Amino acid sequence: MNIKINKTKIVATWGPACEDETVMLNMIKSGVDVFRFNFSHGKHEKHLEGFNKVKKLCAEHDLNIAILADLQGPKIRLGLVRDNLEVLETGSTIEITTESCLSTYKKIFVSYANLAKEAEPGDAILIDDGRVELKVLTTDKVSLLTAKVVVGGKISNNKGVNLPDTKTTVPALTDKDRKDLEFALANGANWIALSFVRAAKDVEELKEIIGERNSYIKVMAKIEKPEALLEIEAIIDAADGIMIARGDLAVEVPQEKMPLIQKDIIKRCIRKAKPVIVATQMMESMIENSNPTRAEITDVANAVIDGADAVMLSGETSMGKYPDRVIHIMEKILNNIENHSEMIYDKQLIPNKGSASFLSDAICYNAARMSSELGAKAIVGMTFSGYTGFLLSSYRPRAGIFIFTENKELLNSLSLCWGVRAFYYDKFVGTDTTVRDVIRILKEKGLIKPNDMIVNIGSMPLAARGRANMMKVTVVE
Ligand code: PGA
Ligand code: MN
Repeated sequence: MNIKINKTKIVATWGPACEDETVMLNMIKSGVDVFRFNFSHGKHEKHLEGFNKVKKLCAEHDLNIAILADLQGPKIRLGLVRDNLEVLETGSTIEITTESCLSTYKKIFVSYANLAKEAEPGDAILIDDGRVELKVLTTDKVSLLTAKVVVGGKISNNKGVNLPDTKTTVPALTDKDRKDLEFALANGANWIALSFVRAAKDVEELKEIIGERNSYIKVMAKIEKPEALLEIEAIIDAADGIMIARGDLAVEVPQEKMPLIQKDIIKRCIRKAKPVIVATQMMESMIENSNPTRAEITDVANAVIDGADAVMLSGETSMGKYPDRVIHIMEKILNNIENHSEMIYDKQLIPNKGSASFLSDAICYNAARMSSELGAKAIVGMTFSGYTGFLLSSYRPRAGIFIFTENKELLNSLSLCWGVRAFYYDKFVGTDTTVRDVIRILKEKGLIKPNDMIVNIGSMPLAARGRANMMKVTVVE
């Protein structure tokens, strides 16, 4: 099967517009590496249908498409709105209650029980991605507040509410998240994304539950709260990957700060060898239109130049008119940068001497450097934990990063990492045999050819399954 392959990965959100298997296959051919399932919408039966379709396509076409289960997290919402449409008038004063009721232009319900206790006069309350803006005037510290409508507008059922100024005590994982997590674990998701992460301990809490289940599922922290920015290093350390969730982020922090936050987080993630996704509104206009705007083309290109591992589509693929075409166009943008920009390659990240994995880090670092000096076609590594794959990826070599692993769960997880392709391999006889074997496999797949140079890294003795401690250069026969 002819599949578009880029270094930068594409994450597509699954939904009604792309639930057809043929559409999904076309999207994969056009360059999708990861399907994201958004647990803010849809029932488990529907998600299961999607999971099964991804797995079926992978099995039928020998693919490693990852399933990313995106948990809603402590998202605060309006409830039902009278006739599903009311208009809040700029300058008016309204009541806000945390006791369930039908919202009107005079009094609205917000789904966060502690709002009256924790909000202070002057705090902003933003509705529907900040389209409507309120400012708290008074609170009875029990369940009722009054607020000024600073920017008025329409409200409708279940719109999101952001509280950028209020230090909330919402739990990191809601009851719904816990149920969705169990579903994702039971049905073979490869990545779990946690929304509205505020602290490293939120990620650790999730990892603890996953640890109890003996699962290798990877955890992604979505960065969309100002609190998270204050301890971003600790969050990146705690998580296996990061999503720059620009939708909520640009509501929670002054929106003009978002571009530099994006660049800063990407840099930190590359330094720590954690894959990072740039998400939301990348090709938004293609929900309706057959072509992106100039600004969107440039935004996608800039995310690649910033060094993102992956770019993500949300409504564009889940409910848009052009779920396949949007991938096709995005792929061409990625491809053009990868072929014509020097800036994205060969990050000179010196291994940290203090790190517990300094030795294997040094091997991976030098393998990447060597591949660049030799003009090697590929770097081939073995891993069980995935670490070698993540690390090699962070050096952003031009050479292909081919990772062989006996850990089946990892095959798909690695699809998110820049430049990495993973293959199943479980014959650990001896280093010579393995090097010969993997070269044969890559040759058969048409990924390398005679006279190509390959940098192999591995662990000797092989049977100990330790971290990389060996590097070898091979010319393909
Ligand atoms: P969401 O996350 O689509 O689940 O809100 C992404 C974002 O906030 O950008
Ligand atoms: Mn969000």
